[in-house]
Amino acid sequence: PTRAEITYFGAGPAALPTDVLETAAQALLDYNGTGLGIAEHSHRSELATNIINEAKADLASYLDIPTGDYEVVFMQAGGTGEFSAAVYNLVGAWVARQHAAIVSELGGDKADEAAVVAALRARVESDLKLDYIVTGGWSLKAYQEAVRLLGPEYVNLAADARTINDGKFGKIPDQSTWKLSKDAALVYYCDNETVDGVEFPEFPSVLAPRADGSGPIVVADMSSNILSRRVPVENFSLIFFGAQKNLGSTGVTVAVVRKSLLPPVTSQPSPALLRKLGLPIPPIILQYETIARNNSLYNTLSIFDVYIAGQVLKKLLRTYPDKVDGQQAVSEKKANIIYAALEAHPEVYRIVPDKSARSRMNICFRVIKNGNIDEAEKTFLKEATAQGLTGLKGHRSVGGIRASNYNSIPLEGAEKLARFIDAFAKA
Ligand code: PLP
Repeated sequence: PTRAEITYFGAGPAALPTDVLETAAQALLDYNGTGLGIAEHSHRSELATNIINEAKADLASYLDIPTGDYEVVFMQAGGTGEFSAAVYNLVGAWVARQHAAIVSELGGDKADEAAVVAALRARVESDLKLDYIVTGGWSLKAYQEAVRLLGPEYVNLAADARTINDGKFGKIPDQSTWKLSKDAALVYYCDNETVDGVEFPEFPSVLAPRADGSGPIVVADMSSNILSRRVPVENFSLIFFGAQKNLGSTGVTVAVVRKSLLPPVTSQPSPALLRKLGLPIPPIILQYETIARNNSLYNTLSIFDVYIAGQVLKKLLRTYPDKVDGQQAVSEKKANIIYAALEAHPEVYRIVPDKSARSRMNICFRVIKNGNIDEAEKTFLKEATAQGLTGLKGHRSVGGIRASNYNSIPLEGAEKLARFIDAFAKA
């Protein structure tokens, strides 16, 4: 089939807009009449810096990121690398705060260094906690990474969605049941669980900042729903996402970091101190302050991937004068059309997550005909593919069908899928 005949519902990498790819293909051969392609130019060149700065500015504009308080960095860690980066950076920030407090308690400049380290060590052992809200496979992986890096004694499973849903993901535990620690180094959640089709309907109010501006240090993985709805950025200390679903191509990851968490490396806990405290030392490439200080160019960055992300953002800004609110309305409409088609045939389709936590981005369902799931799903996939509706197979860990309804799926694509869902049920 040709590109034009296909609507690709894969979970990531996702389809990219064809006009963006055409522009990028030309840029790969010859960027702006320089005779050299965008992937060949130095990442230290002025044109590379311009591409980074424009993409940052367009992202900030589209999402209304308050750039006075937040730094946007491009990295190559992937979402998985950010699971580790979140731990390293926010444990570092927590230790730095405790260190400063203990030094002042023990007499400021005159404080005895050995006494400071001993007190800090005791405080780490008694108070260091990272809270994880686990609502699906990705937040589970992030939680497991924190346990792997720090040891289980420092990591608090504040909520586990499986405990309220027969051992499976599909619901978000009521916020009143979350067991949040006092002054946690971070509270982590995944805004949209790509595998399980579970999305937070809105920012969890229990994590909202207090009137005096203080509040929990909130970290969110928005890999699979960023750019699809408005985000109250100022409620977060860190938001991260890989580009490969709603932003661009595989190979670049974005972190939006609160600037107050980026003290100069010289005032962060030194490797020697972390060693004494028995805490892990961050790889330099995962240190947000280092990357931010170098405008994302501490080491070689794929400028081509940043360029594609930049072109996607320019297209979004052209398409939606009201920026992300415009895309949000379309995303909701597309999701509603698909869910409505499924709900119209309860005898054939079973939507996996609870209605209160249904994702607009990853629509997960089972197909049952004549009492047979496996056969029905095989036939569903085969017939959908024949009609150009591809990439619908669910994640290998959970099976079923998953329609990933990212920004690059046009309204007509969602409508076509809904018509197919209806026709398949009736056939
Ligand atoms: N977080 C979420 C929500 C994801 O969907 C994914 C990948 O699909 C990841 C993290 C991991 O991203 P990566 O494969 O870039 O490490």
